[in-house]
Amino acid sequence: MDKRPIIEPFRIHTVQAIAMPSRDVREEALRRSHYNLFGLRAGEVTIDLLTDSGTGAMSTRQWAGMMLGDESYAGSSSFFRFEEVVRDLTGFSEVIPTHQGRAAEKILFATLVDDGQVVLNNNHFDTTRANVEYRGAEARDLVAAEGNDPALVAPFKGDMDIDALRSSLEADGDRVPLVMVTVTNNAGGGQPVSMANLRAVRELCDEYSVPFFLDACRFAENAWFIKTREEDYADMTPKQIAQEMFSLADGCTMSAKKDGLANIGGFLALNDERVASECRNLLILTEGFPTYGGLAGYDLEAIAQGLIEVLDEDYLRYRTRSVEYLAEKVASGGVPIVQPPGGHAVFVDARALLPHIPPQEYPAHSLAVEFYREGGVRGIELGSLAFGVPQEDGTDVPAAMELVRLAIPRRMYTQSHIDYVAEVVLDVAARAGSMGGYRIVEQAPWLRHFTARLEPVPVGSGR
Ligand SMILES: *Cc1c(COP(=O)(O)O)cnc(C)c1O
Repeated sequence: MDKRPIIEPFRIHTVQAIAMPSRDVREEALRRSHYNLFGLRAGEVTIDLLTDSGTGAMSTRQWAGMMLGDESYAGSSSFFRFEEVVRDLTGFSEVIPTHQGRAAEKILFATLVDDGQVVLNNNHFDTTRANVEYRGAEARDLVAAEGNDPALVAPFKGDMDIDALRSSLEADGDRVPLVMVTVTNNAGGGQPVSMANLRAVRELCDEYSVPFFLDACRFAENAWFIKTREEDYADMTPKQIAQEMFSLADGCTMSAKKDGLANIGGFLALNDERVASECRNLLILTEGFPTYGGLAGYDLEAIAQGLIEVLDEDYLRYRTRSVEYLAEKVASGGVPIVQPPGGHAVFVDARALLPHIPPQEYPAHSLAVEFYREGGVRGIELGSLAFGVPQEDGTDVPAAMELVRLAIPRRMYTQSHIDYVAEVVLDVAARAGSMGGYRIVEQAPWLRHFTARLEPVPVGSGR
């Protein structure tokens, strides 16, 4: 192995200035936003790791492609380029563009899922779950047990629990309209799913005659993990591996804001012509004509090019390495994280770092606020603020884990930015013992973490 650093496989062509707010400005911004990081203006954030969705940098070829965008309402040449790239990648014959991933979910589930049914997934992403539940169906998570153990190091912690899948199909088979597998498993920490597991899911779906869809948002990162971790795949290209993944499924939903390397967009692709034609009818109702689906022609060009670039080996090696590099730096300084790091983010385990803050006082939220206060680094709380279930008596049923996600936008930050983030995390961790919790002052009835107002609980208040 070459010992030299794995460098960014690109040079910078256009730059965007980063905000460097002073500590006083950050403190004031926190007060103004009621200690909710969603309330910050982007211009108050130095390194924004809120999400890797739609935040990446596009290439010169993508920008050049945008100039070629054909904005014809029907039959745009940009659509045919997009369709060709998606067909070549996925093998699915029916390709339906949407404005983002959740629109593909909405249309697919409106067509296939009914009241009282059960959708099985390794872990439903939050928009996927919401769209299943909106249909009156149950969104059941069946990730393998190792996927729920943050400290355990295993190669494919996104795998579906095949025994649990069989039991669910046996018990509820006639109520299961489709099985989904999310690659990589975003809600479970960006952990990959092995080809062997996808194959086992396919076999069970055949046995019970249930369609199998991929939630393919991070298909390229998943393909890279298969290449580097699963026997027999080392000599295949990421594209060949991705093609094999898709060949095991009947269709997929996709957010182009992730491994489409675009700032907006998505698609639904499948083989069943009858289902596709029903989906297109709905698409016309909510998204637009089937050759643009809520996107501009230039977006379709950017996505088509992005789907090609994302499978470049140098890109995927750098991409996964930059996440792993941040993980190694903070873990070697003693900060507990979800292991091994996934494809798009480092998840800091706030329950382990701040054992003195009870879940009712949102330890992961407290940690996320400190990363911002300390260095202008914005992550996202994925713990009891986001997933706790409020009860009538004003308390919460806490979430299973208390995590802060530091998601890395694609091709945007350099190694020195990542070094800076690691130092901020380590400086905050060094004073973890003196940090206090938060309480909610005001909250919405659902998805409260986006808008909740909070205030610090005074440290040593004896609660
Ligand atoms: C982002 C994401 C979605 C939804 O896509 P949007 O483009 O944000 O609507 C669905 N599933 C997974 C796994 C995702 O990461």
